[in-house]
Amino acid sequence: MAEKIIEFKNVTFSYGKQPAVDKATFSIEKGDFVGMIGPNGSGKTTVVKLMLGLLTPDSGSIRVFGKEISGFHDWQRVGYVPQKATNFDQNFPASVFEVASMGMASKAGLMKQLSKADHGAVEKALEVAGISGLRNSRIGDLSGGQQQRVFIARALVSEPDLLILDEPTVGVDQKAQHEFYLLLGELNRKRGMTLVLISHDVGVVAKNAGKIACVNAGVTMHDASSGIDSALLCAYGNDMGRVPHHHD
Ligand code: ADP
Ligand code: MG
Repeated sequence: MAEKIIEFKNVTFSYGKQPAVDKATFSIEKGDFVGMIGPNGSGKTTVVKLMLGLLTPDSGSIRVFGKEISGFHDWQRVGYVPQKATNFDQNFPASVFEVASMGMASKAGLMKQLSKADHGAVEKALEVAGISGLRNSRIGDLSGGQQQRVFIARALVSEPDLLILDEPTVGVDQKAQHEFYLLLGELNRKRGMTLVLISHDVGVVAKNAGKIACVNAGVTMHDASSGIDSALLCAYGNDMGRVPHHHD
């Protein structure tokens, strides 16, 4: 049986009275490419924040790489590109290399010099993300698609086994999106990286991910190959099930 990378059991979390995540039970296995879908406000970002230990469940249990999350400390194994990562001050005076090396921050300490090995890891992450040539460019001067790659490079610096991306293609043009999915496919298939991709674009997710996680306070897993109808139904209900979605 495949190694379980993430395991939720009956996880409930509320910000206020209404649970944002309600009795979520699911698991993600090594090598999975999971597309997470669901309407706005259905709890996708909250599920991811619980996975990352940024929020603590009110009840239920979460295991990360087989370990109870409260006792898990190997966070460099997990890369995270937050929602609206590219939504920063475009005048921020930092180069691509500098932003990507922030992926080393927890390890090296923000103010410390990067070691030679750290420097090499940043170079490698830029290369994998396909932006080595932009290392000295100012981040604010790049296109949306290029900026997105900088944040992916930052998440790749620690060579994570699990990469979580929260709506990374918002504001990115079609061509860059296509190349972005090629990159994800390569990370998943060639490097065996486990991926969790939140997206509102059900069509694109079904085409690229192997599994679909439908979030509607609860979470249900579906095989992308066995048709997306049940996934659509679970995420959007009857009325949305047949709405045509946008393909490129
Ligand atoms: P999604 O990512 O699917 O759009 P979220 O996980 O962001 O959904 O939100 C789930 C629910 O929790 C929504 O009803 C949202 O309004 C609420 N919520 C999210 N973040 C907060 C917060 N920081 N404080 C209070 N309520 C929140
Ligand atoms: Mg969200």
